[in-house]
Amino acid sequence: MEYVEAQGARIPKIGLGTWMLEGERCRETVERALALGYRHVDTAQAYENEAEVGAGLAAGMARGGILRDELFVTTKLSMDNLTRDRVGASARESLERLALDRIDLLLIHWPSEAVPLRETLEAMLRLVEQRLVRHLGVSNFTPPLLEEALSIAPLLTNQVEHHPFLGQDRLLEMAEKNDLCLTAYSPLARGRVEKSDVLRSIGEAHGKSASQVALRWLTQHPNECAIPKASSEAHLRANLDIFDFALSAGEMRRIAGLARGERLIDPAWAPRW
Ligand code: NAP
Repeated sequence: MEYVEAQGARIPKIGLGTWMLEGERCRETVERALALGYRHVDTAQAYENEAEVGAGLAAGMARGGILRDELFVTTKLSMDNLTRDRVGASARESLERLALDRIDLLLIHWPSEAVPLRETLEAMLRLVEQRLVRHLGVSNFTPPLLEEALSIAPLLTNQVEHHPFLGQDRLLEMAEKNDLCLTAYSPLARGRVEKSDVLRSIGEAHGKSASQVALRWLTQHPNECAIPKASSEAHLRANLDIFDFALSAGEMRRIAGLARGERLIDPAWAPRW
C-alpha cells in the first residue's frame, strides 16, 4: 500500500467505496476487504449503509486482529444535516450506526446554498475538539468553494469525481499547494474505463487491466487517493494490486489526454462546476 501524507494524516491510497452496497452484501464485502488488506473505507449518511459498514468493520477487525488505529473511516454529512443543530446530532448518529467512537474523516457531502458554509464547518470543528472526529473535509467542492472552505477551517481532503475521462488539474494543484488529499470518487468511471483501448493497451504492457491502469494513474499523483467500489473478490483484489508497477511520464500524459469532460455524477443540487 502507498499513502498520502497530508495534514499529519496518513491515508491509504486505495480505499473501498461503498455506495450502493447494501445489507448483508455490504457487511460481507467490507469484512472481505479488510481481510484482503484494505484499511480505508468510505461511506456516507446518504448511502444508508453505515450500520452494515460498521458491522463489516467490526467483523473484519475481529477476524484479522486489526486495531482500530490501523483503519481510516470516512463518512459524509447529508445535505439536510448541515445546520448548526444537525451537524453534531447527525454525526453522533453516524458514530452509533458505525459502532465506532471516532470518525477519521467527516465530509460535507455536497456544498449547500441553503446553509452558510461557516455555520457547518464551525459545528464540525466542535466535533474535532470533542475528539469524535479526527479530520474534516469537503466533497464536490469547486476550486472557489474549496478556497472559501480553507479560509474557515483546516481541511484534509476534497473528494471529487476523477478518472481518465474527467480531468481535475486545478483541484490537484490546489491539493499540492495546500497539503490536502484529493480523493478520487468513481475512479473507474463506474466501470467504463474497461472499454478504453488506450488504457487496455497500456495495461497489456504492464500485465495489468485497464481498471488497474486507471487506479495507478490516479494514485501516482502524490496527493491523490482513490476509492473504487468493488463487490466481487476478484475486483477487490485487483484494485489493491496496483503498487508493483509504475507508469512512465509518457504514459501518464497519454492517459491525461483521454480527458473529455465526462462527468457521471451531476445531480440537480450539484454546484456550477
Ligand atoms: P467506481 O468505483 O468508479 O466503479 C464501480 C464499478 O466498477 C462497479 O460496477 C464495479 O463492479 C466495477 N469494478 C470495480 N473494480 C473493478 C475492476 N478491477 N475491474 C472491472 N470492473 C471493476 O464507481 P462508484 O461506486 O461511483 O465510485 C466509488 C465510490 O466513490 C463510491 O462507492 C462512493 O463511496 C464514492 N462516491 C462518492 C460520491 C460523492 O458525492 N462524494 C459520488 C459517487 C461515488 P463490481 O461491484 O461488480 O465489483
